[in-house]
Amino acid sequence: MIVQKYGGTSVGSPERIKNVVRRVAKYKALGHQIVVVVSAMSGETNRLIALAKEIQAQPDPRELDMVISTGEQVTVGLLSMGLIQEGLKAKSYTGAQVKITTDSAFTKARILSIDEHNIRTDLANGYVVVVAGFQGIDKEGNITTLGRGGSDTTGVAIAAALHADECQIYTDVDGVYTTDPRVVPEARRLKSITFEEMLEMASLGSKVLQIRAVEFAGKYKVKLRVLSSFEEEGDGTLITFEEDDKMEQAIISGIAFNRDEAKITVRGVPDKPGIAYQILGPVSEANVDVDMIIQNVGVDGSTDFSFTVHRNEFDKAMDILKNKVQSHIGARDVVGDNKTAKVSVVGVGMRSHVGIASKMFRTLAEEGINIQMISTSEIKISVVIDEKYLELAVRVLHKAFDLDQEAA
Ligand code: ADP
Ligand code: ASP
Ligand code: MG
Repeated sequence: MIVQKYGGTSVGSPERIKNVVRRVAKYKALGHQIVVVVSAMSGETNRLIALAKEIQAQPDPRELDMVISTGEQVTVGLLSMGLIQEGLKAKSYTGAQVKITTDSAFTKARILSIDEHNIRTDLANGYVVVVAGFQGIDKEGNITTLGRGGSDTTGVAIAAALHADECQIYTDVDGVYTTDPRVVPEARRLKSITFEEMLEMASLGSKVLQIRAVEFAGKYKVKLRVLSSFEEEGDGTLITFEEDDKMEQAIISGIAFNRDEAKITVRGVPDKPGIAYQILGPVSEANVDVDMIIQNVGVDGSTDFSFTVHRNEFDKAMDILKNKVQSHIGARDVVGDNKTAKVSVVGVGMRSHVGIASKMFRTLAEEGINIQMISTSEIKISVVIDEKYLELAVRVLHKAFDLDQEAA
Protein backbone atom coordinates (compact mmCIF):
# COMPACT_ATOMS: atom_id res chain seq x y z
CA MET A 1 0.00 0.00 0.00
CA ILE A 2 1.39 3.33 -1.07
CA VAL A 3 0.25 6.87 -0.34
CA GLN A 4 1.28 9.34 -3.05
CA LYS A 5 1.00 13.06 -2.44
CA TYR A 6 1.14 15.49 -5.35
CA GLY A 7 1.78 19.20 -4.76
CA GLY A 8 0.31 22.21 -6.51
CA THR A 9 2.68 22.41 -9.47
CA SER A 10 2.27 18.70 -10.10
CA VAL A 11 -1.49 19.17 -10.61
CA GLY A 12 -1.21 22.72 -11.97
CA SER A 13 -2.83 22.07 -15.38
CA PRO A 14 -4.98 19.40 -17.09
CA GLU A 15 -1.85 18.11 -18.81
CA ARG A 16 -0.07 17.70 -15.48
CA ILE A 17 -3.07 16.02 -13.91
CA LYS A 18 -2.99 13.54 -16.80
CA ASN A 19 0.64 12.98 -16.03
CA VAL A 20 -0.30 12.10 -12.45
CA VAL A 21 -2.96 9.75 -13.82
CA ARG A 22 -0.28 7.94 -15.81
CA ARG A 23 1.94 7.51 -12.77
CA VAL A 24 -0.86 6.29 -10.54
CA ALA A 25 -1.99 3.86 -13.26
CA LYS A 26 1.56 2.53 -13.51
CA TYR A 27 1.74 1.81 -9.76
CA LYS A 28 -1.75 0.33 -9.78
CA ALA A 29 -0.73 -1.99 -12.62
CA LEU A 30 2.14 -3.23 -10.43
CA GLY A 31 -0.46 -4.45 -7.96
CA HIS A 32 -0.25 -1.74 -5.31
CA GLN A 33 -3.16 -0.34 -3.36
CA ILE A 34 -2.96 3.41 -3.78
CA VAL A 35 -4.24 6.44 -1.93
CA VAL A 36 -3.50 9.74 -3.64
CA VAL A 37 -3.49 13.02 -1.74
CA VAL A 38 -3.49 16.22 -3.78
CA SER A 39 -3.00 19.94 -3.24
CA ALA A 40 -4.87 22.70 -5.01
CA MET A 41 -3.55 23.73 -8.43
CA SER A 42 -0.46 25.92 -8.03
CA GLY A 43 -1.35 29.51 -7.20
CA GLU A 44 -4.94 28.65 -6.33
CA THR A 45 -4.63 28.88 -2.54
CA ASN A 46 -2.90 32.26 -2.89
CA ARG A 47 -5.64 33.42 -5.23
CA LEU A 48 -8.35 32.39 -2.78
CA ILE A 49 -6.61 34.13 0.13
CA ALA A 50 -6.30 37.34 -1.90
CA LEU A 51 -9.96 37.10 -2.87
CA ALA A 52 -10.99 36.72 0.76
CA LYS A 53 -8.92 39.77 1.71
CA GLU A 54 -10.71 41.86 -0.89
CA ILE A 55 -13.92 41.27 1.03
CA GLN A 56 -12.52 41.40 4.56
CA ALA A 57 -9.00 42.72 5.19
CA GLN A 58 -8.49 40.36 8.16
CA PRO A 59 -10.66 37.45 7.06
CA ASP A 60 -12.73 35.66 9.67
CA PRO A 61 -10.73 32.46 10.26
CA ARG A 62 -13.65 30.05 10.01
CA GLU A 63 -14.85 31.60 6.79
CA LEU A 64 -11.33 31.79 5.38
CA ASP A 65 -10.99 28.03 5.82
CA MET A 66 -14.33 27.57 4.11
CA VAL A 67 -12.94 29.45 1.11
CA ILE A 68 -9.38 28.17 0.89
CA SER A 69 -10.32 24.52 1.34
CA THR A 70 -12.10 24.62 -2.03
CA GLY A 71 -8.93 24.51 -4.12
CA GLU A 72 -8.28 20.90 -3.14
CA GLN A 73 -11.89 19.88 -3.77
CA VAL A 74 -11.41 20.79 -7.43
CA THR A 75 -8.24 18.77 -7.91
CA VAL A 76 -9.49 15.58 -6.25
CA GLY A 77 -12.51 15.57 -8.55
CA LEU A 78 -10.42 16.26 -11.64
CA LEU A 79 -7.87 13.61 -10.78
CA SER A 80 -10.54 11.00 -10.14
CA MET A 81 -12.12 11.81 -13.49
CA GLY A 82 -8.76 11.37 -15.14
CA LEU A 83 -8.31 7.97 -13.51
CA ILE A 84 -11.81 6.86 -14.49
CA GLN A 85 -11.16 8.03 -18.04
CA GLU A 86 -8.09 5.80 -18.00
CA GLY A 87 -10.26 2.81 -17.09
CA LEU A 88 -9.43 2.69 -13.38
CA LYS A 89 -11.88 2.66 -10.49
CA ALA A 90 -11.41 5.87 -8.52
CA LYS A 91 -13.26 7.88 -5.92
CA SER A 92 -12.56 11.31 -4.48
CA TYR A 93 -13.08 12.50 -0.91
CA THR A 94 -12.86 15.81 0.86
CA GLY A 95 -11.27 15.81 4.32
CA ALA A 96 -14.72 16.00 5.91
CA GLN A 97 -15.97 13.05 3.88
CA VAL A 98 -13.08 10.88 5.03
CA LYS A 99 -13.53 12.24 8.48
CA ILE A 100 -10.13 13.72 9.07
CA THR A 101 -10.87 15.19 12.46
CA THR A 102 -8.84 18.20 13.60
CA ASP A 103 -8.86 20.67 16.44
CA SER A 104 -10.60 24.00 15.82
CA ALA A 105 -7.52 26.20 15.26
CA PHE A 106 -8.69 27.57 11.92
CA THR A 107 -5.96 28.07 9.30
CA LYS A 108 -3.49 26.03 11.36
CA ALA A 109 -5.48 23.08 12.63
CA ARG A 110 -3.90 19.84 13.84
CA ILE A 111 -5.11 16.41 12.85
CA LEU A 112 -6.54 14.48 15.81
CA SER A 113 -7.77 11.32 14.10
CA ILE A 114 -8.53 9.80 10.73
CA ASP A 115 -11.43 7.43 10.09
CA GLU A 116 -9.89 4.93 7.67
CA HIS A 117 -13.00 2.81 7.28
CA ASN A 118 -14.19 4.13 3.89
CA ILE A 119 -10.68 4.24 2.50
CA ARG A 120 -9.98 0.64 3.46
CA THR A 121 -13.28 -0.59 2.01
CA ASP A 122 -12.65 1.24 -1.27
CA LEU A 123 -9.09 -0.03 -1.51
CA ALA A 124 -10.28 -3.59 -0.91
CA ASN A 125 -12.77 -3.10 -3.74
CA GLY A 126 -10.05 -2.05 -6.13
CA TYR A 127 -10.51 1.71 -6.06
CA VAL A 128 -7.81 4.32 -6.16
CA VAL A 129 -8.80 6.63 -3.33
CA VAL A 130 -8.16 10.32 -3.94
CA VAL A 131 -8.17 12.53 -0.84
CA ALA A 132 -8.10 16.33 -0.63
CA GLY A 133 -5.00 17.51 1.19
CA PHE A 134 -4.75 20.44 3.60
CA GLN A 135 -8.21 20.09 5.15
CA GLY A 136 -10.23 18.45 7.85
CA ILE A 137 -13.28 18.92 10.00
CA ASP A 138 -13.50 19.79 13.67
CA LYS A 139 -15.78 18.21 16.26
CA GLU A 140 -18.50 20.78 15.57
CA GLY A 141 -18.43 20.01 11.86
CA ASN A 142 -16.56 23.15 10.79
CA ILE A 143 -14.18 22.86 7.85
CA THR A 144 -10.58 23.51 8.91
CA THR A 145 -7.26 23.80 7.09
CA LEU A 146 -3.85 22.61 8.23
CA GLY A 147 -1.58 25.57 7.50
CA ARG A 148 0.30 26.34 4.29
CA GLY A 149 1.89 23.26 2.81
CA GLY A 150 -0.52 21.13 4.84
CA SER A 151 -1.20 18.57 2.13
CA ASP A 152 2.14 16.96 3.03
CA THR A 153 0.74 16.37 6.50
CA THR A 154 -2.49 14.90 5.14
CA GLY A 155 -0.42 12.46 3.08
CA VAL A 156 1.77 11.33 5.93
CA ALA A 157 -1.11 11.15 8.42
CA ILE A 158 -3.11 8.93 6.07
CA ALA A 159 -0.04 6.75 5.48
CA ALA A 160 0.35 6.45 9.26
CA ALA A 161 -3.34 5.64 9.82
CA LEU A 162 -3.31 2.95 7.14
CA HIS A 163 0.13 1.61 8.05
CA ALA A 164 1.08 2.13 4.40
CA ASP A 165 4.37 0.72 3.19
CA GLU A 166 5.57 4.07 1.92
CA CYS A 167 4.52 7.69 1.64
CA GLN A 168 5.80 9.33 -1.54
CA ILE A 169 5.80 13.12 -1.73
CA TYR A 170 5.87 14.14 -5.40
CA THR A 171 6.89 17.72 -6.01
CA ASP A 172 8.63 20.03 -8.49
CA VAL A 173 12.18 19.19 -7.38
CA ASP A 174 13.66 15.69 -7.39
CA GLY A 175 14.35 15.46 -3.68
CA VAL A 176 15.60 17.31 -0.64
CA TYR A 177 18.63 19.46 -1.42
CA THR A 178 21.42 20.89 0.68
CA THR A 179 19.49 24.15 0.39
CA ASP A 180 16.71 25.53 -1.80
CA PRO A 181 17.99 24.84 -5.34
CA ARG A 182 16.07 27.88 -6.59
CA VAL A 183 18.27 30.13 -4.48
CA VAL A 184 21.57 28.29 -4.77
CA PRO A 185 21.94 26.57 -8.15
CA GLU A 186 24.98 24.71 -6.78
CA ALA A 187 22.81 22.89 -4.20
CA ARG A 188 23.07 19.09 -4.23
CA ARG A 189 20.33 16.52 -3.84
CA LEU A 190 20.71 14.39 -0.73
CA LYS A 191 20.22 10.63 -1.19
CA SER A 192 19.02 10.48 2.38
CA ILE A 193 18.59 12.73 5.35
CA THR A 194 17.83 11.77 8.95
CA PHE A 195 14.47 12.59 10.50
CA GLU A 196 16.14 14.79 13.03
CA GLU A 197 17.82 16.85 10.35
CA MET A 198 14.70 17.02 8.19
CA LEU A 199 12.73 18.16 11.19
CA GLU A 200 15.17 21.01 11.77
CA MET A 201 15.30 21.91 8.07
CA ALA A 202 11.50 22.02 7.87
CA SER A 203 11.06 23.95 11.08
CA LEU A 204 13.73 26.43 10.03
CA GLY A 205 12.05 27.24 6.77
CA SER A 206 12.74 24.60 4.07
CA LYS A 207 9.24 24.35 2.75
CA VAL A 208 9.88 21.22 0.70
CA LEU A 209 8.08 19.36 3.52
CA GLN A 210 5.67 20.83 6.05
CA ILE A 211 7.09 20.36 9.54
CA ARG A 212 4.06 18.54 10.88
CA ALA A 213 4.38 15.99 8.10
CA VAL A 214 7.92 15.25 9.26
CA GLU A 215 6.78 15.07 12.88
CA PHE A 216 4.05 12.58 12.00
CA ALA A 217 6.40 10.47 9.93
CA GLY A 218 8.91 10.35 12.78
CA LYS A 219 6.34 9.54 15.41
CA TYR A 220 4.57 6.80 13.45
CA LYS A 221 7.65 5.51 11.63
CA VAL A 222 6.30 6.21 8.17
CA LYS A 223 8.73 5.51 5.36
CA LEU A 224 8.90 8.89 3.67
CA ARG A 225 10.42 9.79 0.32
CA VAL A 226 10.52 13.05 -1.65
CA LEU A 227 10.47 12.63 -5.43
CA SER A 228 9.97 14.57 -8.66
CA SER A 229 6.59 14.31 -10.34
CA PHE A 230 8.17 15.38 -13.61
CA GLU A 231 10.75 12.63 -13.93
CA GLU A 232 10.03 8.99 -14.69
CA GLU A 233 13.01 7.61 -12.82
CA GLY A 234 14.93 8.66 -9.75
CA ASP A 235 15.20 7.65 -6.12
CA GLY A 236 14.55 11.09 -4.69
CA THR A 237 15.48 11.54 -1.05
CA LEU A 238 14.66 9.03 1.65
CA ILE A 239 14.11 10.33 5.16
CA THR A 240 15.89 7.80 7.37
CA PHE A 241 16.02 6.90 11.01
CA GLU A 242 19.63 5.81 11.01
CA GLU A 243 22.65 7.98 10.73
CA ASP A 244 24.18 5.45 8.36
CA ASP A 245 27.08 6.43 6.15
CA LYS A 246 27.58 9.49 8.29
CA MET A 247 31.31 8.79 8.21
CA GLU A 248 31.56 9.94 4.62
CA GLN A 249 28.97 12.64 4.90
CA ALA A 250 29.49 16.30 5.50
CA ILE A 251 29.31 17.74 9.00
CA ILE A 252 26.61 20.09 7.79
CA SER A 253 23.76 18.52 5.83
CA GLY A 254 22.00 21.63 4.77
CA ILE A 255 21.20 25.29 5.05
CA ALA A 256 17.68 26.40 5.80
CA PHE A 257 16.31 29.90 5.67
CA ASN A 258 13.14 31.75 6.36
CA ARG A 259 12.10 35.16 5.12
CA ASP A 260 9.04 35.32 7.31
CA GLU A 261 10.72 36.46 10.51
CA ALA A 262 9.94 39.69 12.26
CA LYS A 263 11.85 40.92 15.29
CA ILE A 264 10.36 42.75 18.23
CA THR A 265 12.28 44.34 21.11
CA VAL A 266 10.77 45.57 24.34
CA ARG A 267 13.28 48.08 25.72
CA GLY A 268 13.91 49.24 29.23
CA VAL A 269 12.14 46.38 30.92
CA PRO A 270 12.49 46.06 34.72
CA ASP A 271 14.86 43.16 35.39
CA LYS A 272 12.83 41.11 37.86
CA PRO A 273 11.04 37.75 38.11
CA GLY A 274 7.88 37.32 36.04
CA ILE A 275 8.81 39.71 33.25
CA ALA A 276 9.18 37.12 30.47
CA TYR A 277 5.80 35.76 31.41
CA GLN A 278 4.17 39.19 31.44
CA ILE A 279 5.55 39.96 27.99
CA LEU A 280 4.99 36.63 26.28
CA GLY A 281 1.83 35.54 28.10
CA PRO A 282 -0.50 37.98 26.29
CA VAL A 283 1.27 37.22 22.99
CA SER A 284 0.68 33.50 23.30
CA GLU A 285 -2.91 34.02 24.48
CA ALA A 286 -3.47 35.77 21.17
CA ASN A 287 -2.27 32.56 19.48
CA VAL A 288 0.91 34.17 18.13
CA ASP A 289 3.84 31.74 18.00
CA VAL A 290 7.12 33.08 19.29
CA ASP A 291 10.37 31.73 17.88
CA MET A 292 13.76 33.01 19.06
CA ILE A 293 13.92 34.79 22.37
CA ILE A 294 16.80 36.83 23.78
CA GLN A 295 17.01 38.69 27.04
CA ASN A 296 20.03 40.79 27.81
CA VAL A 297 21.78 40.87 31.14
CA GLY A 298 20.27 43.65 33.17
CA VAL A 299 22.11 46.91 33.79
CA ASP A 300 20.84 49.34 36.45
CA GLY A 301 17.84 47.12 37.07
CA SER A 302 16.53 47.21 33.53
CA THR A 303 17.07 45.14 30.42
CA ASP A 304 15.98 44.58 26.77
CA PHE A 305 13.84 41.65 25.73
CA SER A 306 13.75 40.59 22.06
CA PHE A 307 11.96 37.84 20.20
CA THR A 308 10.82 36.90 16.72
CA VAL A 309 7.36 36.11 15.36
CA HIS A 310 5.99 35.21 11.96
CA ARG A 311 5.78 38.28 9.75
CA ASN A 312 2.04 37.78 9.28
CA GLU A 313 1.57 38.17 13.00
CA PHE A 314 3.91 41.11 13.45
CA ASP A 315 1.20 43.80 13.55
CA LYS A 316 -0.92 41.80 15.94
CA ALA A 317 2.02 41.21 18.30
CA MET A 318 3.15 44.86 18.17
CA ASP A 319 -0.37 45.96 18.94
CA ILE A 320 -0.60 43.72 22.00
CA LEU A 321 2.77 44.85 23.32
CA LYS A 322 2.17 48.55 22.81
CA ASN A 323 -1.36 48.57 24.14
CA LYS A 324 -1.48 45.86 26.75
CA VAL A 325 2.04 45.17 27.92
CA GLN A 326 4.28 48.24 27.72
CA SER A 327 2.70 50.48 30.34
CA HIS A 328 1.58 47.52 32.42
CA ILE A 329 5.16 46.39 33.04
CA GLY A 330 6.71 49.84 32.85
CA ALA A 331 8.85 49.26 29.77
CA ARG A 332 10.48 52.24 28.01
CA ASP A 333 9.31 51.40 24.47
CA VAL A 334 8.60 48.68 21.96
CA VAL A 335 10.40 48.60 18.61
CA GLY A 336 9.98 46.21 15.72
CA ASP A 337 11.59 45.25 12.43
CA ASN A 338 9.67 43.10 9.97
CA LYS A 339 12.44 42.98 7.39
CA THR A 340 14.55 40.33 9.04
CA ALA A 341 15.32 36.77 7.98
CA LYS A 342 16.71 33.67 9.60
CA VAL A 343 19.50 31.49 8.24
CA SER A 344 20.42 28.17 9.82
CA VAL A 345 23.07 25.51 9.30
CA VAL A 346 21.87 22.02 10.15
CA GLY A 347 23.67 18.73 10.64
CA VAL A 348 23.91 15.85 13.09
CA GLY A 349 27.67 15.89 12.44
CA MET A 350 27.82 19.07 14.53
CA ARG A 351 27.60 16.92 17.65
CA SER A 352 31.08 15.56 17.10
CA HIS A 353 32.71 18.64 15.65
CA VAL A 354 33.72 21.90 17.22
CA GLY A 355 34.17 25.24 15.52
CA ILE A 356 31.04 25.16 13.36
CA ALA A 357 29.61 28.27 14.99
CA SER A 358 32.78 30.29 14.68
CA LYS A 359 33.12 29.26 11.03
CA MET A 360 29.57 30.41 10.43
CA PHE A 361 30.10 33.75 12.17
CA ARG A 362 33.42 34.35 10.40
CA THR A 363 31.90 33.61 7.00
CA LEU A 364 29.12 36.12 7.59
CA ALA A 365 31.54 38.70 9.00
CA GLU A 366 33.71 38.47 5.90
CA GLU A 367 30.70 39.58 3.86
CA GLY A 368 29.91 42.40 6.28
CA ILE A 369 26.65 40.78 7.36
CA ASN A 370 25.56 41.80 10.83
CA ILE A 371 24.13 39.10 13.11
CA GLN A 372 21.17 40.35 15.15
CA MET A 373 20.27 37.22 17.09
CA ILE A 374 21.74 33.74 17.51
CA SER A 375 20.21 30.52 18.66
CA THR A 376 21.72 27.05 18.80
CA SER A 377 20.78 23.46 19.49
CA GLU A 378 22.79 20.25 19.28
CA ILE A 379 22.34 20.01 15.53
CA LYS A 380 21.71 23.54 14.31
CA ILE A 381 22.88 27.14 14.54
CA SER A 382 20.48 29.90 13.50
CA VAL A 383 21.09 33.59 13.05
CA VAL A 384 18.70 36.45 12.39
CA ILE A 385 19.99 38.96 9.85
CA ASP A 386 18.69 41.80 7.70
CA GLU A 387 16.48 40.36 4.99
CA LYS A 388 18.43 42.05 2.22
CA TYR A 389 21.48 39.89 2.90
CA LEU A 390 19.61 36.61 3.02
CA GLU A 391 20.51 35.16 -0.36
CA LEU A 392 24.12 36.25 -0.05
CA ALA A 393 24.34 34.64 3.39
CA VAL A 394 22.89 31.35 2.16
CA ARG A 395 25.27 31.24 -0.79
CA VAL A 396 28.45 32.01 1.14
CA LEU A 397 27.58 29.54 3.90
CA HIS A 398 26.75 26.85 1.37
CA LYS A 399 30.19 27.29 -0.13
CA ALA A 400 32.03 27.66 3.17
CA PHE A 401 30.65 24.37 4.45
CA ASP A 402 31.67 22.55 1.24
CA LEU A 403 28.14 21.88 0.12
CA ASP A 404 28.50 23.26 -3.40
CA GLN A 405 28.16 20.75 -6.16
CA GLU A 406 31.39 20.18 -8.02
CA ALA A 407 31.32 21.97 -11.34
CA ALA A 408 30.69 19.37 -14.05
P1 ADP B 1 4.54 21.36 -3.51
O1 ADP B 1 3.59 22.31 -4.15
O2 ADP B 1 4.85 20.17 -4.36
O3 ADP B 1 4.17 20.99 -2.11
P2 ADP B 1 6.47 23.26 -2.45
O4 ADP B 1 6.62 24.51 -3.24
O5 ADP B 1 5.65 23.29 -1.22
O6 ADP B 1 5.93 22.14 -3.47
O7 ADP B 1 7.90 22.66 -2.06
C1 ADP B 1 8.85 22.44 -3.06
C2 ADP B 1 9.82 23.62 -3.12
O8 ADP B 1 10.55 23.67 -1.91
C3 ADP B 1 10.86 23.54 -4.20
O9 ADP B 1 10.39 24.03 -5.42
C4 ADP B 1 12.01 24.37 -3.63
O10 ADP B 1 12.05 25.67 -4.18
C5 ADP B 1 11.67 24.50 -2.14
N1 ADP B 1 12.76 24.10 -1.24
C6 ADP B 1 13.17 24.82 -0.16
N2 ADP B 1 14.19 24.22 0.46
C7 ADP B 1 14.44 23.08 -0.24
C8 ADP B 1 15.39 22.04 -0.09
N3 ADP B 1 16.28 22.03 0.92
N4 ADP B 1 15.37 21.01 -0.98
C9 ADP B 1 14.47 21.01 -1.98
N5 ADP B 1 13.56 21.98 -2.19
C10 ADP B 1 13.53 23.02 -1.33
N1 ASP C 1 -2.80 24.26 -1.12
C1 ASP C 1 -2.26 24.45 0.18
C2 ASP C 1 -1.19 25.54 0.14
O1 ASP C 1 -0.96 26.13 -0.88
C3 ASP C 1 -1.72 23.19 0.78
C4 ASP C 1 -0.54 22.57 0.07
O2 ASP C 1 -0.22 22.95 -1.06
O3 ASP C 1 0.08 21.67 0.67
O4 ASP C 1 -0.60 25.83 1.16
MG1 MG D 1 4.32 22.01 -0.29
